Amino acid sequence: MDDRPIADRWQDIVQHVKEEYLSETQAYPWIVGFSGGKDSTVVAHAVFEALLSIPPSRRNRPVHIVSNDTMVESPLVMAHLDSVTTLIEGAVEGLGLPMTVARTKPDLDKTFWVLLIGKGYPSPNSQMRWCTDRLKIQPTSTYIKDNISAHGAAIVVLGVRRTESIRRMQTVNKYENLRGSNLNEHSSIAGAYIFRPILELSTDDVWELLGSFPAPWGGTHTKLFQLYRDAEGGECPVVLSKDEAPGCGTKNSRFGCWTCTVVEKDKSLQGFIDSGQHAYKPLVAFRDWLVDIRNDPARRSAIRRNGRLTFDLSGKHIPGPFTIQARREILERLLQVQSEFGGQLITDDEVNLIHKFWAMDLQQQEGLANV
Ligand code: SF4
Repeated sequence: MDDRPIADRWQDIVQHVKEEYLSETQAYPWIVGFSGGKDSTVVAHAVFEALLSIPPSRRNRPVHIVSNDTMVESPLVMAHLDSVTTLIEGAVEGLGLPMTVARTKPDLDKTFWVLLIGKGYPSPNSQMRWCTDRLKIQPTSTYIKDNISAHGAAIVVLGVRRTESIRRMQTVNKYENLRGSNLNEHSSIAGAYIFRPILELSTDDVWELLGSFPAPWGGTHTKLFQLYRDAEGGECPVVLSKDEAPGCGTKNSRFGCWTCTVVEKDKSLQGFIDSGQHAYKPLVAFRDWLVDIRNDPARRSAIRRNGRLTFDLSGKHIPGPFTIQARREILERLLQVQSEFGGQLITDDEVNLIHKFWAMDLQQQEGLANV
């Protein structure tokens, strides 16, 4: 354990980031995974400070600050992410730093609503968690892979910490020192290397840092403190592979999607409601209803999307997707919740695609009925 004052340890972290940035053996672009949570904020902060300490003529490596929008992100978390990334963008421009601020999203035909309401996928649960890969892993991985195609490789800078969770620690230990450098090969993206500059910080260290040093892009980290206080705890970190995905949609990930039916109870929105933000009540009620109707046989089709009746090994019938009628009911309720809430919960493009999928499914059903 490092007992030195936090300011000294912070200096070491920034120096380490600076040396790594200037390293010529691994001169690939950096992609900083930025969820807006405490850990990735500290990492972005360190990268920012390191770049500021390097003369402009030597700032040759491009840095991307990349956040992902699942399109069902908790609205308060999204508002925070929007305001911080806008500040970062402004500071990057003003200071002439070689940084790009980017936002990734799932493909339109893979969003939570298009799959649930358009195709009738049953609300995700721990056995059938179809969402993490499509909403989180694929969008960020595509961004990384595009950079690997353009530059031969890419270095992903993550706010992973050894003490964060047992599962993450196992992942960290598994890939330690793979290349005899500060970098580790990514477990599933060829050409991606991981750099983890705050690996040894504890949660208390992270809060102490955020409380001690103002954000280098302007403003303070006060809103972040408030967000955590109201959400009562943990965060949904940047998820890049299935190895790390168990942290998503568990009781530890209170900053996940507001629609998350994998968790038993939504803790983050409930935390915001408990701290006086009553506008989120209809969202929590809607999410709870999605959990309740999941296994209602009247709302599920007997056959699966491939047109077949399916049974598991014990002979138990596995129901198919939500019926078109149930999907209509879900969309109607969602639009009602959206108007009560007064903020966008589903986009027009998603609604249009949902109608297209319904039309296709109805056509297919009519075709089957006429056989
Ligand atoms: S937070 Fe929940 S709904 Fe969102 S991707 Fe993770 S498991 Fe799926």
